[in-house]
Amino acid sequence: MRITGRTTLFVIFGDPVEHSLSPAMQNAALQAAGIDGVYIPWRVKAIGLPTAFESIRGMENFGGANVTIPHKEQAVSLVDELSSEAASVGAVNTVIGRGGRLLGANTDGQGFLRALQEEAGFVPRGRQVVILGAGGAARAVAWSLAEAGVSKVVILNRTVERAEALAEFVSRGSGVSAIGHGLGDRHISERVAECELLVNATSVGLAASDPPAIDGALLRPGMLVCDLIYRPRETALLREAKKRGCRVLGGVGMLLFQGMLAFELWTGQKPSEGAMRAALIQAIA
Ligand code: NDP
Repeated sequence: MRITGRTTLFVIFGDPVEHSLSPAMQNAALQAAGIDGVYIPWRVKAIGLPTAFESIRGMENFGGANVTIPHKEQAVSLVDELSSEAASVGAVNTVIGRGGRLLGANTDGQGFLRALQEEAGFVPRGRQVVILGAGGAARAVAWSLAEAGVSKVVILNRTVERAEALAEFVSRGSGVSAIGHGLGDRHISERVAECELLVNATSVGLAASDPPAIDGALLRPGMLVCDLIYRPRETALLREAKKRGCRVLGGVGMLLFQGMLAFELWTGQKPSEGAMRAALIQAIA
């Protein structure tokens, strides 16, 4: 990589940010596209985020930015304009510069849908889905599935109030039937038995010693079990699901496709999927 006076700068804001795989994936895409650009991590605390956004607003060679944990919600108030998805979900993961103005977008939900369709051949329309978790990722996934026409969304979360609040947000915003339960609720087995897609959007599974995010006995053969976690690539939930005859999908595809969509928004070009996927897999390993 050669950095010159003409090099365009792309950044990712987060705290911490050293775990992020986006620099590896996006620099591979820039290189494959022959763009004179570099993508760098920018670790910033919440208190410094407004100043960081002012810096990119004034940067003439700004190419684009990603926003990751814990800044996605705060970024909503720091941009000049929001895409409809970012406004609906209340979170920004991608920032595009337009002549000194900043547009906030969110590619997480579309990235997830694309992974579902391209890597698992799953068409959400008319299907019942269960989502484990009620944090930021669960919100983006629940919203995108509702927009894609699922018939019912069930949210299961450790903190029941958050499950109910997310279900209320989905049903009020999209009109799709949605219900929230705590993880100990007696209705859980029925809800899981009825669904065709189960998505783990909790952080249970990030540690190698974590148990499956839900009791494996509840899983049915044939259902698609998706874990948003991408490191490790195969969580205890996915191992358990495979044993029980379920189809499985890990989190690498969502990470890849949200990044590809961001690249396209910044540059107007389709990135090389092969180069980005190879860089991701190498960084995960
Ligand atoms: P948040 O911190 O916003 O949410 C975490 C969720 O996990 C909450 O619902 C929380 O429940 C639940 N949780 C945490 N610990 C436990 C536990 N011990 N038992 C049961 N539930 C628990 O995180 P995000 O939504 O941002 O991320 C969630 C996961 O999704 C992460 O693993 C992340 O790596 C992954 N992710 C993957 C992406 C991809 O591109 N593949 C993109 C974004 C996220 P409670 O409400 O009770 O606290």
